[in-house]
Amino acid sequence: MIVLHGISLPPGRFGGSEIEALFCNQLDFDAHPYFSEIRGIEVSAHLLVRRDGAVTQYVPFTERAWHAGESCFRGRTRCNDFSIGIELEGEDETPYDDRQYDVLQAVLPALFAAYPAISAREVAAHSDIAPGRKTDPGPAFDWLRLYDGLVGRS
Ligand SMILES: [Zn+2]
Repeated sequence: MIVLHGISLPPGRFGGSEIEALFCNQLDFDAHPYFSEIRGIEVSAHLLVRRDGAVTQYVPFTERAWHAGESCFRGRTRCNDFSIGIELEGEDETPYDDRQYDVLQAVLPALFAAYPAISAREVAAHSDIAPGRKTDPGPAFDWLRLYDGLVGRS
């Protein structure tokens, strides 16, 4: 499956180097009050999609990344074991950037082609697989827009 996330560090601020630092275990947890709340967490994702559409891959798709945490999809727990995690630089209540949708329209069909077990039906929100614990990518993420762009391509 593919899990879509939203992330910003500190929350609501875009464009800094903090997300990359976190994914590379180099975040200075003393640099911002919020970071002390997440001190020590080890997080990684396969892809990060910035607001401007820039994509960085941190983990090969064939390797496990640590993005889902305690989670469940169709009765199967530990989603990190069988998922690709895509982090969108964003925040639950702020509309995602057009360029991020453009990237997803390109990346998702490529992943569907490479991994035939995955189709648009296997793309879920972090909030779907960890309800009550996670809210991202949040109500600001336009799923209909995503699905409309994928119609006929999966
Ligand atoms: Zn998430």
